[in-house]
Amino acid sequence: MESNERSKNVEACELVTGGGCGYVIFGASGDLTQRKLLPSVFSLYRSKRVGEEFFIIGFARSTMDDDAFRDRVKKSIRHADNSIPEDEITSFADKCFYVSGSYDLSDGYQRLKEKTKELATRFATSGNLVFHIATPPPLYAVIVAELGKNGLVKRHQNDHPFHRVIVEKPFGRDLESADRLNTDLLEHISDDQIYRIDHYLGKETVQNILMFRFANPIFEPAWNCAHIDHVQITVAESLGVEHRAGYFEPAGLLRDMFQNHMLQLAALVGMEPPVSFDSENVRDENVKFMKSIRPFDLKNLDAQLVRGQYGEGLIAENRIKGYREEEGVAPTSCTETYFAMKMFVDNWRWKGVPFYLRAGKRLEKKLTQIALVFKKAPHCMFSQANAPVAPAPNVLIFDIQPKQGLSLSCQAKVPGAKMCLTTMQMDFNYRDVFGSEMDEDYSTLILDCIRGDQTLFWRKDGVEASWRLLTPVLRDYDTCTATKKTTAPDTPEIYSAGGWGPAAGDHLLEKDGRQWIVA
Ligand code: NDP
Repeated sequence: MESNERSKNVEACELVTGGGCGYVIFGASGDLTQRKLLPSVFSLYRSKRVGEEFFIIGFARSTMDDDAFRDRVKKSIRHADNSIPEDEITSFADKCFYVSGSYDLSDGYQRLKEKTKELATRFATSGNLVFHIATPPPLYAVIVAELGKNGLVKRHQNDHPFHRVIVEKPFGRDLESADRLNTDLLEHISDDQIYRIDHYLGKETVQNILMFRFANPIFEPAWNCAHIDHVQITVAESLGVEHRAGYFEPAGLLRDMFQNHMLQLAALVGMEPPVSFDSENVRDENVKFMKSIRPFDLKNLDAQLVRGQYGEGLIAENRIKGYREEEGVAPTSCTETYFAMKMFVDNWRWKGVPFYLRAGKRLEKKLTQIALVFKKAPHCMFSQANAPVAPAPNVLIFDIQPKQGLSLSCQAKVPGAKMCLTTMQMDFNYRDVFGSEMDEDYSTLILDCIRGDQTLFWRKDGVEASWRLLTPVLRDYDTCTATKKTTAPDTPEIYSAGGWGPAAGDHLLEKDGRQWIVA
């Protein structure tokens, strides 16, 4: 494509804006609000994707006035990017307000209602409201019930004005609790008003998987069990549990990463082409994929699943303590900080193709990548021409983070008289092409909610399908956690911080004659 044609397309894409709206954050004194939500909304404001018809209200129990909240807003934006001019931060902070109250008592909600009315007139937002629930999960249903009882949200009120609710992850801790939460929310709002967030889906590189697959038809004939040997998905963190042991200890990595992000990444790679790129059609295909995943054999989980827990080790020459030594973690904790899974998708496209998924904390480096490893050439004619090794398979890699792009490895001849082959990479790097940092994932998702686009949010049946797959496995592991066994065979294997997880994680592929790719 000519570069001026590409820049015309890019310009057209930047014009997506939300209309007037009030954005209310519950749990506004918390970590997520400071680190992610406020900088993301500021980024929308700064780039004029939300306009002057916009305001923010923080709601939490902590006592603060508007000015104290604005100081936090400013601090959080400066912390995210200290090069932003002060006048831009101040004009954004002037749109921020605060209401203090208990999450389960009406009086705070009544004050919130008064404030939203007053600000709707002042900022001409037509009464449109987005509520973002960023509190600990036990409060999700309580808050939506109070919003309903106090007339801040009305069921089916999805336009003129709209009342929408963004619900943070985790959405339940098993099938039963997710069902209960769905039922509780649906008493007060309809499914088209619920935005179950999975912030991974807000990443440009994740969304690009669908564009790449369905806007480039040359790949489709090879995107199936006839040509793909296996799929690998790695989500590695070098950080440990940090200050989130209270949440992580009873959850574990399988709940924290697989029920949502990992299965979503697999679905984007594996789903069938939707009829159109609208939320219902995309999510129909997404759910069909989830339902096609073969249930795990509970009598033989070790054949497909690996749990690990980080012990002490070294990262960048710093001594790292083991998980059980972390603050808030039981010294006999059974919680996994690493999980690897081999799964099969029982449908026509993926028959017999293993999907290997792994995620872990305190691994060698931060990395999210998806690799599609194609089948090797059926016959190596170059062996007769003194090629020392058989050609390696083609591998297509989606780099999600920190590198953002994609690459395709191909074989090429090494110049010279001998018939030597080497692997070369065809690389596409977002930054090289589009020249700027990718947006915060939350910016995309909050804007989508304001625009009423649910494509990148979980639908009720999708949440149910993923919990249905994992709940029997979790039940098995929860027994271990409950009895706090440390030496039983079903406890997670300890791995050294700074490596690539337990040996069993590598063995999961090696026993199939494969190995993890880290590009
Ligand atoms: P916090 O633990 O920081 O809680 C947010 C706010 O909720 C707190 O500031 C506090 O405000 C209130 N709160 C905390 N504990 C309680 C309690 N026991 N009872 C009543 N209120 C309480 O959470 P985060 O900001 O880290 O996360 C918010 C949500 O977002 C969680 O559901 C989390 O799972 C999810 N999430 C967080 C991510 C992160 O990186 N932090 C990433 C992805 C999802 P106050 O006391 O002032 O009312």
